[in-house]
Amino acid sequence: MEKLLEVAGLKKYFPIRKGSLFSRETKYVRAVDDVSFDIHKGEVLGLVGESGSGKTTTGRLLVRLLKATEGDIVFEGKDTQAMTDAQFRPLRRDMQFIFQDPYSSLNPRLTVAHAIAEPIRLHGVATGKEVEERVGDLMNTVGLNPRMASRYPHEFSGGQRQRIGIARALALNPKLIIADEPVSALDVSIQAQVLNLLHRLRDEFGLSYLFIAHDLNVVQHLCERIAVMYLGKLVEVADRESLYAEPLHPYTQALTSAIPVPNPRAKRDRVLLKGEIPSPVNPPSGCHFHPRCQFATEQCRQVVPTLKKVNATRSVACHLY
Ligand code: SF4
Repeated sequence: MEKLLEVAGLKKYFPIRKGSLFSRETKYVRAVDDVSFDIHKGEVLGLVGESGSGKTTTGRLLVRLLKATEGDIVFEGKDTQAMTDAQFRPLRRDMQFIFQDPYSSLNPRLTVAHAIAEPIRLHGVATGKEVEERVGDLMNTVGLNPRMASRYPHEFSGGQRQRIGIARALALNPKLIIADEPVSALDVSIQAQVLNLLHRLRDEFGLSYLFIAHDLNVVQHLCERIAVMYLGKLVEVADRESLYAEPLHPYTQALTSAIPVPNPRAKRDRVLLKGEIPSPVNPPSGCHFHPRCQFATEQCRQVVPTLKKVNATRSVACHLY
């Protein structure tokens, strides 16, 4: 399969100042620290991790909602990091973002028609009557009645608002959609509907997704490959079947063991994580996961493991492999 996006050595460090007025010290939060992955045409890659793992920052760097500290982002063979904002702008049409919170991502003063039409007008894709027709088509595509186009966001349910967000993202016929936890703010019953919609749209328009989620349960039916992130680093990347059947990294093992099973009485070995994710300002030495890992050794406390290929379809960053 042809590559659509190639990310190599991506870093985002946020400076924070500490100390008094006279002795200021700058520290850095390594929100994204040397992350590399690719997405093929028509593929759905899941990016999974707890809050504070850096997954949302990674998504934002791809579409320049944030500027990278270092690293390469190549989209359809074009090095986007070497581009000025003006050079990047036409490419931005091909890479759209769906926000986590459908409640706050829509302007409450704009009707749905305006909200969906905004990117079409901004990029000069259509004018006049064509815009209206395009908005109606997009609403139909995401399962909303175009007669509701003159309503305001507060008149819609959470699931409907996320459909509006999806229609906005589709307005410019993108190739890649970065979906940042698009269902986590929704009721479980509505989550499945939105996931099914994203699945259908992928098939219909040949889209690729980077699907960001905080648990492996949500991504298991949509994503072909999954990348697991912990404290700014990728710890495992694998095809879906291998990852769920035989997770390699101890953190992935803990995440997969937390997935609810249909029969709650079925015997399963739950891997419990000790404590909370540490602060990214002072991450643990060596393997960042070592304070929570039951297999940690002295080597783990001192040496940072790098992401290494273990076979054709998977890579892991752990001294056990
Ligand atoms: Fe655990 Fe060591 Fe592997 Fe880190 S490198 S996950 S501490 S075994």
